[in-house]
This record gives sequence, C-alpha cells and structure tokens, in this order.
Amino acid sequence: MNSQDQQKTSVLTDPVERLAALRHEFGEHGGVNMSIEASTTFTVMEAGTMPEIFNGRLGPDAGGCFLYGRHFNPTVYVLGRQLAAMEGAEAGYCTGSGLGAISCALLGILDQGDHVVASDTLYGGTWAMLAEFFPKKCGITTTFVDIRDRAAVEAAITDRTKVVYAESLSNPTLHLADLPMLADVAHANGAKLVVDNTFTPLAITPMEHGADVVVHSLTKFVNGASDFIAGAVCGSAEFVGSLMDLHVGPLMLLGPTMDPQVAHSISLRIPHLPIRMIEHARRSQIFAERLEAAGVKVCYPGLASHPDHELFGRIGRPEYGYGGLLTIDAGTCERAEALMDDLQNAEGFGFMAVSLGYFDTLMSCSASSTSSEMTEEALEDAGIAPGLLRMSIGYTGSLEQRWSQLERALKRVNLI
Ligand SMILES: *Cc1c(COP(=O)(O)O)cnc(C)c1O
Repeated sequence: MNSQDQQKTSVLTDPVERLAALRHEFGEHGGVNMSIEASTTFTVMEAGTMPEIFNGRLGPDAGGCFLYGRHFNPTVYVLGRQLAAMEGAEAGYCTGSGLGAISCALLGILDQGDHVVASDTLYGGTWAMLAEFFPKKCGITTTFVDIRDRAAVEAAITDRTKVVYAESLSNPTLHLADLPMLADVAHANGAKLVVDNTFTPLAITPMEHGADVVVHSLTKFVNGASDFIAGAVCGSAEFVGSLMDLHVGPLMLLGPTMDPQVAHSISLRIPHLPIRMIEHARRSQIFAERLEAAGVKVCYPGLASHPDHELFGRIGRPEYGYGGLLTIDAGTCERAEALMDDLQNAEGFGFMAVSLGYFDTLMSCSASSTSSEMTEEALEDAGIAPGLLRMSIGYTGSLEQRWSQLERALKRVNLI
C-alpha cells in the first residue's frame, strides 16, 4: 500500500471501509475501471533514473517508477493494495498462485537450517512443502502440532524456530486458530506468525490478532469464479519490499508472477466479495442448522456445538458470517462418495470437484483428494476421517431449492 492509502485506511477498523477508502484507480482514458498495464518493461525519461530504480530508491511507492514486470506491475500492484487494505496490512503483492505466495513468504523469512512450527491440519500442498520439499531442498524443517494446544506449540519451538504457521480456519477440519495465543507464543520466542487466510477473508483479519504475514490463495473465495489460479502476500512494507529484492527476494528470483490481465479481473471482483461471503455464510449456516437438527454429523463454525464457535465470535466478524464451508461425516468413504454422486448426478446440487469459494457448491472427500499428500498417520492425527465430505456452499439457485435437493440425496443414501 502506498503512504497515501495508509493514511486514509489505517484509522479504519473495518476491512470493507478500508477498501472503500483506497484511492480509486481510473483507467487511462478516465474509465471507471483501471486499465490493464500490459507492458513487461517500462521506459525511463532520463538515463540517470535507471540506476536509482535498480538501487531500490525509486520504486512504485516513491514516484511511480516501474522497472520490469516480474518486479512490479502497476495493475498487479493495485490488486495488492486492495488485499493489503482488506487485511489491514501496510503492503501486499500478488502471485501466480496461493502456493507461490506461501512458498515465497516463508522463504522470505526462513534461511537454511531454520525451523517452522506448523499446524497438523493444513492444505495438502502446504503440508507437502513443509514436510517434504523444504527439508529436502533447503534444510528447513517443520514440526507439526495441534495448533490449538498452547503447550504443544511451545514445546515444539527450538532456538531455530522463525515461523509459527497456521490456517485461520483449517482445511478441511474447520478448526479456528487461536491467533492471539499463537502470536503471543511466536513473538515471545522471536518467531513470526504467518497465517493462511484463504478460508475466511473479511470474517477474520489475522493482523488484528498479531499475525505478521498473511497469505492467500485468491483462487478460492476472493476471486470466486474458479477461473484463475492466484495468490497474495500481505505484511509490513519492509517485508513485502524485501520479497522483491533483486539479490535475495523470492518473488523476484523464483518468479511466481501474476499476469496483469488476471490481476485486473480479480480486482473487479473485490467490491462484491463482502456480498458473496455473506451469502456463502448465510446458506452454510442454515444448511448446517438443518443438518444438525436432522441428526447428520455436521461441522460448521457457526453452530453453537462447534468447539471454536465462541472463539470465532470473539476474534471474527460475525456480520460476514462463519465462512462458506461445512463438512459432513458420512461414516465411510463409500457413503460419502454415494452422497456426492447423487447430489451431482441425480439432483444437480453442485459439483464433485476440489477447490472452494465458487458460486456453485463444490464437494470433495478430503482424505482421498486435497489432503491425499498426507500419510495415513498424519490424516488420523489431523482428524480427517475417510468419510469426511467437504462442501463449499454456493449461492446459485434458491436456498429452499438447494435444501430440498440436499435433503432428498441424504435420504437416498440413508444419512437421514
Ligand atoms: C487452495 C489452497 C492453497 C493453494 O492455493 P493455490 O492457489 O491452489 O496455489 C493454499 N491454502 C489453502 C487453505 C487453500 O485452500
């Protein structure tokens, strides 16, 4: 975010108000929407300017000089400013994928030999990165713990621990990370708290609770149409700037660059993110309540029976709801698969597909899909049962139409 944005937004506590207070970016010809900056390289007006840019003295924050598209692109930069405003961060920048954002944010903090304490329930790709890729390729090791257990987190910390890592709402078990507690433990030990906020944009603002860095897979709710893979890193201006360092910046040197056309499209979907999140959550809440009343084993943080319901109410923003995901424990993998089959093929309720945050409902069995990178033992430790069906609740069709479909399918597979 540039200093002008920061002055206007830093006094605001609501993410939607901060987004509205951002300086509006008009198009080249005065269009209400910004233009797409489709150039990979940028001219300077005087030869002397170029070394200034290369020495980091004339970046986009200091006079609007751009260097090269992998370093900073103005259109991508605007989307980064929007995400920073949403997360209450000083700065943000976008990447070609969520995993690109996560790997670069972590490599921006960690050096060879450093250590991470991470939640034992993480997105499968992140888990594989920490459990297998980092130790093998960079000598960075991770201890996985039940992140809700303060004593376990503290016990796992070593003198090389530089990062405590958690997902705001864990995938797919939907545990809410106790962010104030984790920030406390991390900071007391000189580590940074890095939070993946993919599941709960707006509802949870990790930086309000002490997170140092927030990462996103924009592929999910933030974009909302399942047509782009994208990610973002938000943090202090110094940290985000360091990721662009020409000598050691992982965003600059590993190059998970976001395409400006993608940044433009996603940027136009940010203004209706609040409306979408509210409707995802409203429908999830009603379905979860009705499923629970019907005796189905359902997990949703908006239910009073959810172990983290009270914590969510305390650190979240209930006006944006309790998220758009719920899980059903169908008992066995076969029964979960039968339910998905019926919902998609007999009822047209949604799609059997991984990913989430789409306008239609997406359903997957986590143990055999997005968490399949995990070993059987790790799955068990994380509480990911074989019959666990994850649903990202969409908002197409009417709520009652969708409920009738769900109810009929549940009856056919004898879950109610
Ligand atoms: C999808 C996802 C990722 C990975 O994001 P990509 O955009 O697919 O690279 C990371 N974290 C969570 C919680 C996710 O759901």
